[in-house]
Amino acid sequence: MGINKHLATNQSVHFRAGIRNELDIFIKEIGCSRALVLSTPGHADAARDLAEKLGSITVGAFTGAKMHTPVEVTAKALEHAKHVNADCLVSVGGGSTTGLSKAIALHTDLPQIIIPTTYAGSEATPILGQTEDGIKTTIKDDRVLPEIILYDPELVVTLPSHLSVSSGLNAMAHSVEGLYAKDRSDDSTQIAMDGLQYFVSSLPDVLVNPENIKAREDTLRGAWACGTVLGNVGMALHHKLCHTLGGSFDLPHAETHAIILPHAIAYNALAVPDLLEPLGAMLNNRDTGKAVWEFAKSLGAPLSLGELGMKEGDINLAVDIAVTNPYWNPREITRDGIHQLLRNAWAGSVPE
Ligand code: NAD
Repeated sequence: MGINKHLATNQSVHFRAGIRNELDIFIKEIGCSRALVLSTPGHADAARDLAEKLGSITVGAFTGAKMHTPVEVTAKALEHAKHVNADCLVSVGGGSTTGLSKAIALHTDLPQIIIPTTYAGSEATPILGQTEDGIKTTIKDDRVLPEIILYDPELVVTLPSHLSVSSGLNAMAHSVEGLYAKDRSDDSTQIAMDGLQYFVSSLPDVLVNPENIKAREDTLRGAWACGTVLGNVGMALHHKLCHTLGGSFDLPHAETHAIILPHAIAYNALAVPDLLEPLGAMLNNRDTGKAVWEFAKSLGAPLSLGELGMKEGDINLAVDIAVTNPYWNPREITRDGIHQLLRNAWAGSVPE
């Protein structure tokens, strides 16, 4: 383990049911009076409602956010923000909307208030993924780290069960890779464990009652913890594979993470069983890959890339892409190993 690096993100982070109704206070506190509310088209009504409630301290809503932050959408949003003379950004939505806010901030340095409605965790990182001509690239820049995060569990109760589970497993993947990250510290490991424990304990309760505000708040605490790990330490095999599958085969983000996670864990557990063991202990099964697969299955998570729409014939191409650019991973990346991993994930079998 590396030196003990204390994680400090300089973000103002709040968890409270109904906190979205105090948004005006946060906007005024940062000295702003022309907030531009951002959303995807699917959440346009909620964004406009929020803008209406803000009254004179908003300049309305831009509702064109899209997954993977296409640069054309960012260009339109930038033009709009300039046209209305926005002095801060308010994002209401999942990682797609947060991505647009970060992309605008990269060019303008406008302060950002993020109100997350999924568990993706992007709000806690200085990382921005953007897509241009079908190619997704990622940058790390302090300008994109949001200043304020308002976690309102009442906003997440509408997240359907299947998305709650996939998004939760997406978040857990950040912490899992944090457990064996090359640049991990005692603090990052502790935050990763906290994030994992929040999801292990609260996702089953969310499924029983999606309107359980305490369980929803705990999932959001998990999202913040896992996102913080993502923003502070390097990721490995799992994130690289998901990046490849999402970018080259147009597979949905959270579901792809949910399917790959148990298999990536099983692959790396051969090299670092001790680092993954605490997660196995949390799930009462020392075979950590299998434990996470069974946990995901018990929650009704998608298990098969084939069912997600990936063609069997694309497995070889995915392996080619995944082994082309070498990157750090606790276990050596071998062609045969990745082929086996992807075959199992494609078929939805128990990880080996
Ligand atoms: P998303 O924002 O597209 O949301 C997924 C789906 O959930 C959408 O259909 C959306 O309409 C719906 N939804 C969101 N909140 C809802 C709610 N409360 N109720 C009902 N439906 C709701 O996707 P995501 O999985 O949140 O984020 C994925 C994106 O975020 C990807 O582009 C990914 O690359 C990015 N991401 C970036 C980082 C980073 O640090 N840069 C980290 C994680 C994810």
